[in-house]
This record gives sequence, structure tokens and C-alpha cells, in this order.
Amino acid sequence: MTNPKVLISDNLSAGVADLLRDAGFAADFRPDISRSELLNCIGNFDALLVRSKTQVDAPLLACARSLKVVGRAGAGVDNIDLDTATRKGILVMNTPGGNSISAAEHTMAMLLALARRIPQADSSMKQGEWDKKRFEGIELLGKVLGLLGLGKIGSEVSKRARAFGMKVIAYDPYIPEKYARDLEVQLLPVEEVFARADFLSLHLPLAEATQGLINDETIARMKPGIRLVNCARGALVDEPALLRGLGQGKIAAAALDVFQQEPSPNQELVGHPNVIATPHIAGSTQEAQEKVGFEIAQQVIDYLRAGVVRNAVNFISISSREFEQVAPYLELGEKLGSLLGQISRIRVSEVGIRYYGDLTSLNYKPISSSILKGLFQSMGIESVNMINAFSQAKERQILIVETSSSRERGFKNLISVQLRNESQTEWVEGALLHRGNLRLISVDGIGLDSPLGSFLLFIRNQDQPGVIGQVGTMLGNNGINIASFTLGRHEERGEAIGVVNTDSAIPADLLRKIQALPAVQFAARVRLDRK
Ligand code: NAD
Repeated sequence: MTNPKVLISDNLSAGVADLLRDAGFAADFRPDISRSELLNCIGNFDALLVRSKTQVDAPLLACARSLKVVGRAGAGVDNIDLDTATRKGILVMNTPGGNSISAAEHTMAMLLALARRIPQADSSMKQGEWDKKRFEGIELLGKVLGLLGLGKIGSEVSKRARAFGMKVIAYDPYIPEKYARDLEVQLLPVEEVFARADFLSLHLPLAEATQGLINDETIARMKPGIRLVNCARGALVDEPALLRGLGQGKIAAAALDVFQQEPSPNQELVGHPNVIATPHIAGSTQEAQEKVGFEIAQQVIDYLRAGVVRNAVNFISISSREFEQVAPYLELGEKLGSLLGQISRIRVSEVGIRYYGDLTSLNYKPISSSILKGLFQSMGIESVNMINAFSQAKERQILIVETSSSRERGFKNLISVQLRNESQTEWVEGALLHRGNLRLISVDGIGLDSPLGSFLLFIRNQDQPGVIGQVGTMLGNNGINIASFTLGRHEERGEAIGVVNTDSAIPADLLRKIQALPAVQFAARVRLDRK
């Protein structure tokens, strides 16, 4: 392609246009363009760079006859109609993690502000006071920093905290040991992090499992006098419980950038003398804004020049013929990955994917991507999609081993997905019987034949009479309709696995009751209906 044309319709750094021009692109920098002008001229452009202002909706995309790529400088793509873009074959890219350093630095500022009570001392001086005694602080050196979540931001915080001489411990069930070791961070069960941390900082996504993670019960298990930082998501913290913890002195102080509701109406919390509050600005810096502008421009250059796809949010990079061949297996792959992520109890350092039967002759890369997408999404990694699944694995030092085998397994096609670490493996196998009929055919080598519906109850139990009846009765008594009940076992009275497909989701309290049954060794509710 000669001289591709790029329109920048939002306020990106002016240097971004220069970068594009230096790369031989015709860049039109028009941050103040009106909607009607945009609709009129978009047909001339190969690429469109935006932030959050420009609405890249269906009417705009309908006029975009030559458009090949939309680049969002930043993470959120709420202003872009992804379905329409995908249907039109327009690639959409973003720049997730462009503000990780900013968020990590803000976290450090919060840690220091908590240790030295800088906002409180400043406000006291502004009232004419000079109170050295009241503002005696503590050092970070030698203190234990507990991190919940050791992803992009948590990792950057750990490096900075180590430089301050802090001992860093973390809870993150989805990060390999080696990744943490390289950061000089000790991975521990969440209980121990609560019990040992002098400072606790949250860096995990908001999900069903993490909502209200900091609550009365978890606060009770924390070290007295703990200092809490939340620069992740507001709803991770139960704010009334935090206020109670602060009131009892169990929590010495808290620094919050994010709130259950934003802007926060909770003046009791924000105005508390031991709370430091900022208005969701951890990721907002000039550098982060600049960086995402240059990053997205470079991604667009690499895509239009060399076909390199990075941080795409809507696209599968294979030919349409290859795509048609693998499309029926994508859902099977995603469900197997998601199921395994939800029932696995091991820390993953390697994912083995093996294809059998008809699949051996296909370009199965997209199926592997959907397996990883399902797996990582179930681990709470929000930003994963089909395109970035492999790079997310690499970032986390998780090795992906794809193989195919011509061994006859009794099915026309079969996918085996295995999670491994140094000493443990867990795996599931599934097959597509005919259009849309997805079957789970084994778990950890125990043969089964279960549909892969939207809601499953997964049970590991000691094979003994009565277990099925008890579980069935409990589900029935709670109005949960059973669509199918499948059992498999290693040997009589040995380890058994039960998979129950239900018509609706199983409530948490019912799951706890099932987990408490003496014969049940492990039970998990699995949702396979999310995209
Ligand atoms: P990330 O996906 O790189 O890392 C999240 C980590 O949390 C992953 O390593 C994952 O394995 C781990 N995790 C998932 N579920 C967990 C659980 N139940 N317990 C413990 N660990 C779990 O994300 P990131 O970019 O580091 O972002 C971290 C958080 O910061 C997110 O909530 C994000 O929305 C938030 N954020 C806030 C701002 C701000 O301005 N305040 C800016 C950027 C990001």
C-alpha cells in the first residue's frame, strides 16, 4: 500500500502525526473535527486514531469505505462499535497497560503518604499549626507490603517497593512461581498475606469472586494497624466495613483512588481523618496520555506496513477459508479453557493443547487462542481476547505447547487441554459431535460424557452410594432444574467426578452446602455462558 491516510480525530499529542508522517503516512490531525465533517471525509482514510470522544458507531463505519484499522489511544473501547467493525473487517486496536507505570507510581505515592501522613500534615500547616509530634511517621524500610494481584501494575509496584527496602509478599493464584521469584516477591495464600502485611495494596480485577474482597471477615483476619491502598477498583472494598475497621483502629489508615460509586458520595469515608482520597487519577498522567498516543500510532504503522497485529480487540488474523474451517471448534475450545480455569486447583506454568482427528489438518491456532481466552478470562484477566491470548501467556511466563496427534481416540475430533506445573497436572478433553453439540469427554483421565452447557456443577468425590441422590435433592429443593447428571470414576469406590448441567446458576450458599457434604472432596460451580 502506498502512502496510507490516517485521520486523528481526537486530541492526541501533536507529535503522533509527525511520527506517522516520518513513517511515510499522510496524517491529518483534526481533533476538533465536527461529526458531519467526519462522516463526509472518513471514506478517504485507511486508519482512524481516536481517544474516547469520537463515536466510532455504525453510521460512521458505514461511510468508512477504505478504513482498515481503528486505533484507540487508551484501554476502553466503549465508543467503538466492535461488532460492526468486525463485520466490516476493520481491525480495532487499543493500548492496554499504557498507564500501568502511572498507576504504580500513584500507589507508591499513596504508600508514602500513608506512612508520613503528608496530606494531613499539609492541611494542618495550612491552618497555621506546627505539630511535629502528631505527625511522627513510620518508615517503609523493612515493612511487609502485601499485594493482591501481581499483574502489570502489581509487578511494577513490587519493583519500586523493593527499592524502598520493603519485603513484598503477594497473593495471585494465576501467576507462576518463577515470575514472582524473578521479582523477588514471595507468593503466599491470601490468608497469610492478610495476616502478615503491614501495608496491603490491591491490584486485581473486579469480578464476581473479588467483589467486596475487603470486608468485615477479611479485615478481622488482617494484622492490627494495617494500612490499605486501593488504586484498582472501588467495589473490591466493602466501604461500610472499611469504615468499621478504621473506627476500631484495626485498619490504621487507608488511601483510596477508587470508590464503590464515582464520584463518591461517601463523605464519611472520604472525610475520615485517616483516609487519603484521590479522584480516580492513578492512571492519569501526561506521560500515560502521550505514551498511549505514540503506542497506538506505532501499532497502526506496524499493521498497515507489515501486517503485525498487536493489542487487537476484535479480529482473528487468518484467511477467511481457514477461519470457516475452525469456526465450529472455537466455542468448544473456549469452554474447555474456561472450565479448566474454574475447576483447576494448581498454579499454571505450562498449558499443553493437543489436537486429534480432523483437527490435525487445520490451522488450529485460533482454537488455541480461544482456549487461552477462556482459561485466562476465568482467571480474572479482563483484557484477554483471541488476538492477545498468546502474548498474555508470554507476559505471564506461561509456556504454551501445541501438538497434534494422529492417534485414534474414537472421536472424529478431540481437543485435550492440560494445565501443568513442576509437579502437578490437570486436564480436560472435549469433542464436537455434530453442529453445536459440545461434549466433555474426560477430566484428569476419568472418562465422562457430559454436555457443555452454560451452568455446571463440578464435583470430585469419593465414589460411594448416596452422593448423587444427596446433591440432586439439594439442587431440587433450591429450585435448580437439572438438565443432565454425568458421573465417571477411576475404579469402584475410588475417585469419582460428577458433572451436573443445570438450567440456572447455582447460588453461592448452596455451593457451600454441597462442599460441606462429607463425601465431596471438591465442588465448584462453573459458568460457561460468558463471552
Ligand atoms: P492485570 O490483568 O495485568 O493484573 C491483574 C492480576 O490480578 C493478574 O495477574 C491476575 O492473575 C490477578 N488476579 C485475578 N483474580 C485474582 C484473585 N481473585 N486474587 C488475586 N489475584 C487475582 O491488570 P492491571 O493492569 O495490573 O490492573 C490491576 C487493577 O488496576 C485492575 O483492577 C484495573 O482495573 C485497575 N486500574 C486502575 C487504574 C486507576 O486509575 N486507578 C488504572 C489502571 C488500572
